[in-house]
Amino acid sequence: MRINQLRDGVFAVCTDNWRLNSGLVLGTRRALVIDTGAGPRQGREILEAVRSLTDLPLAVVNTHAHYDHYMGNAVFRRAGAEDFWAHRGCAEAILEHGDYQRSYVGTHEPEMAAADGPDTQLVVPNRHLPGTGRRPALTRIDLGERSAVLFSLGRGHTDNDICVGTDDVVFTGDLVEEGADPSFEDSYPRGWAEALEHLAGLDRYRVFVPGHGRPVERTFVRQQAQMMRTAIQRVDASEAAAAQPGGARPVTASMFRLPYNPGAARVLLDRLERIRTEGAADAPAAAPAALRVPQPSAD
Ligand SMILES: [Zn+2]
Repeated sequence: MRINQLRDGVFAVCTDNWRLNSGLVLGTRRALVIDTGAGPRQGREILEAVRSLTDLPLAVVNTHAHYDHYMGNAVFRRAGAEDFWAHRGCAEAILEHGDYQRSYVGTHEPEMAAADGPDTQLVVPNRHLPGTGRRPALTRIDLGERSAVLFSLGRGHTDNDICVGTDDVVFTGDLVEEGADPSFEDSYPRGWAEALEHLAGLDRYRVFVPGHGRPVERTFVRQQAQMMRTAIQRVDASEAAAAQPGGARPVTASMFRLPYNPGAARVLLDRLERIRTEGAADAPAAAPAALRVPQPSAD
């Protein structure tokens, strides 16, 4: 475990499993913890780091409904946290898929996988961003002489991502991925590229803390957006060529020349194909480019 002080009162807590970055933002009345790990073991590690820095009452944010970002919630509830913030869709996804996701954590979190032992209950976020969850939205949490802004930019890595900004630091969840290819499993790639472009355009932020890996700068976020655009364009071009008389569809993932490793490329292709065949609206419900995320005054 490593604590990385990013600004006065703003920290990244980096734990080994899944190279997860949690966040900690200190106000004068309470502290905000961003992402709680994959179960009680990692949750306790994160809580220990938090308690080495502050005794303040805690509130929690889960950036999205993937196991490594919320399965430590029960540890924080035991530590007194009452408010668990997330996208409305995150709470719905945890209710629907949380028990299934236990199957992913058996190696590092056997108690969580077995639902057996202290702090292995699923704690579903009880505070949500405004609206139905289908449109970009934001809310602001007052921590006492400091606030944090929670905002969603539409569908991306999942259909329930939120970012947490404070000062010039933004915790991006898995919208940004450092040190590995993006995880496309339940993503909306076209919306994701747009969300990344939007994020890179938010001038206020200078430090982007990904859900995994090292903090990055704006240029990295922009490059990740461009790479995703390129990948999607190549798939579209291949589809268009295949639709011509005599056109042949690429057969293997490598034939698409996607800028990702073969595994990630395959997942992206499968995901785009599934979205196409299911007719799922891949575009965000509202154009994120049109949304200007209001920023809090520095208080
Ligand atoms: Zn994720």
